[in-house]
Amino acid sequence: MKKIAIMMVCMLMTVFTTMQAQNSKSPFIGDWELKAGGPLDGTTLGLSIKDDGGKLKGMLVAPSLGSSQIELSNIQVVSAKELKYSFGIQGIDVEASMVLKDNNSLTGTLAGQYPFEGKRSNDIMDKLSQSQTNANAVPERSDKIGAGMTPTMSEYWTPKPKVVTPGNQATASAPSDAIVLFDGTEKSMTDNWVTVNMRTQEVAPAKWIVKDGAMTVNKDMRNGGGNIQTKENFGSFQLHIEWCIPEMDAQFTSQIRGNSGVYLQNMYEVQILDSYNNDTYVNGMAGSIYKQSAPLANAMRKPGEWNVFDIIYNAPEFNADGTYKVRPYVTVIQNGVVLQNHTEILGTTEYIGFPQVKVHGDGPILLQNHGDPSPSISFRNIWIRKM
Ligand code: MG
Repeated sequence: MKKIAIMMVCMLMTVFTTMQAQNSKSPFIGDWELKAGGPLDGTTLGLSIKDDGGKLKGMLVAPSLGSSQIELSNIQVVSAKELKYSFGIQGIDVEASMVLKDNNSLTGTLAGQYPFEGKRSNDIMDKLSQSQTNANAVPERSDKIGAGMTPTMSEYWTPKPKVVTPGNQATASAPSDAIVLFDGTEKSMTDNWVTVNMRTQEVAPAKWIVKDGAMTVNKDMRNGGGNIQTKENFGSFQLHIEWCIPEMDAQFTSQIRGNSGVYLQNMYEVQILDSYNNDTYVNGMAGSIYKQSAPLANAMRKPGEWNVFDIIYNAPEFNADGTYKVRPYVTVIQNGVVLQNHTEILGTTEYIGFPQVKVHGDGPILLQNHGDPSPSISFRNIWIRKM
């Protein structure tokens, strides 16, 4: 009799626990409106998480990144507050995470580094899906950078710059009056370069990987990775910098292939990319002023070989009302071939939208950690002469 009573209690408890499990809805389920920060600042994405027979399923809508509905894969509940997932873009798996702040808001990262904030929304998936299908709609007027625009609107793909096989220029040691920014040692990296946290603005010594006289981009954001920038600020200068894109799988294409960049005064990006037999928009090739000016030639060496950039930069000066007194100009030479010939820089090098004229003074040289999943690129022999 006692045994039967215990069995009954056990059975009831099992039924109760099962009911509880069915009723306790995962807190991640629902539709979320995400606002990206960092280089994707202001970009809106929709994220929908559903329960599919006890398993979580999800969808991302990102019209401003030129992507239609993307199904999420590898959804993993890390904790009661954290969910990890991946999604494919151009055939590449991008990892993302979301962390609940409370029942209605969240924070997270895309590709390990682009931060976003999110809130629950009932209509975001419909709204973004509609903007997807309504390609001819007149963009909303706004003063915000890139409002109503998509990244593809500022890409152009022709004419292709001619391919020029560079001569044998390999390296160039620093002239006597140059400031050596990286001589191949860990010490010269930490003496001259820092990482600035995009969220907190906290400054820490650069933590890229120094080996065999080169420093390699550290993409591990949880372990001191990210962009690095010089401690010192510069005005006009002549910069020498050598960079190498490693050999990598053919699955890495277009902008997801050795993407980095040299930011002049932390404002204007001279693009670094594998442009060797790699099709992409021409104003995003190596040596372009990103999304402004395509290079005059494609003087790229094969992956695994070292490229040399010599960059001559004339910093702008501004009037009191924020207009230019002197406009910024840049000359870029790759492996001895001129890619930019005293090119006027039109303003900031935006991923989405038009260049912005922003008043600024002297600034650091910044080297980009692009955060995409392609293998990291390396730099060596960096020196600068003030002009
Ligand atoms: Mg770049």
